[in-house]
Amino acid sequence: MINAYIGLGSNLGNRRLYVRKAVDLLKHSGDMVVEKTSSIYETDPVGGPAGQCKFLNGVVKIKTSLKPDVLLKRLQGIEQSLKRKRTIKNGPRTIDLDILAYGNKKVKTSDLCIPHPRFTERDFVLKGFCEVAPGFIHPMLGESVKSIYKKVKKENKACRS
Ligand code: ADP
Ligand code: MG
Repeated sequence: MINAYIGLGSNLGNRRLYVRKAVDLLKHSGDMVVEKTSSIYETDPVGGPAGQCKFLNGVVKIKTSLKPDVLLKRLQGIEQSLKRKRTIKNGPRTIDLDILAYGNKKVKTSDLCIPHPRFTERDFVLKGFCEVAPGFIHPMLGESVKSIYKKVKKENKACRS
């Protein structure tokens, strides 16, 4: 069993319910155990069409025997069952489930990139990740999530001043 970290996001419809349902579906999906769930944060959308709703985001730590590509398919199945439609890039979605990290494995194929390339830029993802696994070492950066989060927070503060 490998520790994997899943990012959840919703900005369409009953966001809290979709996030809750997604965690439930992960729990009952088989071949994985949900070990920890972060708090849920409300965040501004990044990119995508103007005027879309804010997101609710969170991070879940699972233990799984599924290989990364099979895990991705499983997450996409859960997205489908929660009425996720892919129309506009970065557009509103009932639920988005991303593999943020899968043990210390690095994957780069046409449809899967692990660790997720954008999670270290997004302070709300790092915040949730820190809640479930602050000591997790990023396989490319060789640094803990807690320390990456501290740096990103500092940089964001510097940007505002
Ligand atoms: P977003 O990039 O906003 O999450 P989608 O959920 O529509 O958009 O995902 C687009 C594609 O990203 C998926 O079809 C999937 O193949 C690919 N992808 C690449 N790496 C990952 C990952 N680590 N987790 C989830 N999807 C990924
Ligand atoms: Mg996604």
